[in-house]
Amino acid sequence: MKELILIKLGEMVLKGLNRRTFEDTLLKNIRHRLASLGKFEIRIAQSTIFVSPQDPQVDMEEAADRISKIFGIAAFSCACETSKDMDAICETAAAYLSDDLQNARTFKVESKRSDKKFPLNSPAISARTGEYLLEQFPHLSVDVHHPDVVVHVEVRDFGAYVHGMPRPGAGGIPVGTGGKAAILISGGLDSPVAAWMLAKRGVNLTAIHFASPPYTSQRAEDKVVRLLELVSQYSGRMKMFTMPFTKIQEEIQKHCPEELFTILMRRFMMRISNAVAVQENCGALITGESLGQVASQTMQAIACTDHAAELPVFRPLIGMDKTEIVAIARKIGTFETSIEPFEDCCTVFTPKHPRTRPVLKYVLEAEQQLPAADLIEECIRDARYIRVGG
Ligand code: ATP
Ligand code: MG
Repeated sequence: MKELILIKLGEMVLKGLNRRTFEDTLLKNIRHRLASLGKFEIRIAQSTIFVSPQDPQVDMEEAADRISKIFGIAAFSCACETSKDMDAICETAAAYLSDDLQNARTFKVESKRSDKKFPLNSPAISARTGEYLLEQFPHLSVDVHHPDVVVHVEVRDFGAYVHGMPRPGAGGIPVGTGGKAAILISGGLDSPVAAWMLAKRGVNLTAIHFASPPYTSQRAEDKVVRLLELVSQYSGRMKMFTMPFTKIQEEIQKHCPEELFTILMRRFMMRISNAVAVQENCGALITGESLGQVASQTMQAIACTDHAAELPVFRPLIGMDKTEIVAIARKIGTFETSIEPFEDCCTVFTPKHPRTRPVLKYVLEAEQQLPAADLIEECIRDARYIRVGG
């Protein structure tokens, strides 16, 4: 049996002139994500991408799992290719979908014929296949409204394909078509979800993490790497910068009013991230902030942090509740890692009574107490980076 995966394109089908770029980027992303699994032939025809393994050893379950995480795909099906001949189509349907049909009580056949030279039209293909399956699986009956199993038959230019229920794709648009942005990543629940949301809109990612050893541990940093590895299954490979933040935090603690610690720290994060992002050709910053979630995420606090960044700051979670964010974290597989209990530099230096309505004028005055430009330069100079993801 010749198994392959048929992919239906997502939103990009609508994109007019940009369509070619979108398709090319998606094909490149699929090739890249599947490369380590073996050799595949990947081609596009009539808004469908055909992914055919060139080696019988290829793990098709794993290939399907990887494809389910590539943005720009509306739906996909594991299918079996056969010749454009009704006997072959019927036999292939019975053999390839035998487990599903064995376990079902009702079914129907849906057919599509894009090769108009094929002698039977779609209803006739469905009728012939249905008849054959009823003979082979006498316990089955046909139900056109609510069948347990839908058998799909597609007769196309190069061959005929049989498959069961299509699986939902990751949606969105292909990563690489939406520019590049820097995600400020902590080990928490929110920022990995924010990263995923922008990758879904076609954005390539660079990650920036602030670490404060010895207040924060190597294990806390490793957790961030593991979170980014999970995100990279959707976003593709990325750089992760680790920024040494200890000295800046200690200086803030020594010289500034305690109730402004958090806001000052966040402004430093923004200025440093902005510089790294520009250096890395990013067009925006991304954070996992959600309005009102904590003291540093009130409208006034966000205004003070925003002021420190020149690039646009995307906050895709701004209007979401924690329960909604958790639901996405579970869906994309970051939840279990995010809830591991490790310290973050933000939580190590939390003031007892943070100012929830900071006024920019006073924040800037407090900042004047520090040699900000030198501290930032030193932090950027001592940054390290690694590459994360396959
Ligand atoms: P998260 O769940 O992402 O940690 P949070 O709800 O804990 O977010 P904060 O700790 O106030 O909120 O952080 C707000 C945002 O600031 C985070 O979503 C992230 O984008 C960024 N951030 C926080 N800590 C760090 C860090 N150590 N390194 C890089 N960015 C950080
Ligand atoms: Mg956090």
